Amino acid sequence: MKPDTQNTLYFEIPELPGTQHFHCDRLRATLSTDACGHRWKIAGEAPTDTRWLICKNCPVGAHHAGEVNANPSQLRAAKLCARCHLTTTRLINKYLCVSCYNRQREQIIGANAKGTKPVKLPPLRRRSISFLTDGTPKTRTVERSVDALELIVAVIRDEPHSVQFGWQPPVGVHVFGKLGETVE
Ligand SMILES: [Zn+2]
Repeated sequence: MKPDTQNTLYFEIPELPGTQHFHCDRLRATLSTDACGHRWKIAGEAPTDTRWLICKNCPVGAHHAGEVNANPSQLRAAKLCARCHLTTTRLINKYLCVSCYNRQREQIIGANAKGTKPVKLPPLRRRSISFLTDGTPKTRTVERSVDALELIVAVIRDEPHSVQFGWQPPVGVHVFGKLGETVE
């Protein structure tokens, strides 16, 4: 996301010569560009602290932090479970909430805490998703996932730069083949 800083008026204040200031519309305050960039960085590092949320997806803040093409999503660096999409204070392996982790574990060992067969969770499968970020194509693979949305959420949450999702044909399908034609 490109910030609209062309129309931003920068100025110095006599008490702090050499430091650029501007009027921040979101905070309705005069800020130094350094303080603004600092707030934006903290917003990404302290995802559960709501005081910083207003700065989190701000393109002007990213610009002042020296970031180019930063991930503008509110999900960026959030403590959010990729599977159930609920916010949590703790992510196991930086991926799942405790509850989803426990359900997954039960499915793997084939029993829940009561010793009966777990039924709640759909079958977990290995999935991959391809995307473009910062001009680089990437693929993320998750060994156990419920659906593709889980991977999309994980990518948007974890990538520092903005992402575009691509489509990867299943093995055996030729992209340039005629409709319905399958090529080995
Ligand atoms: Zn969860």
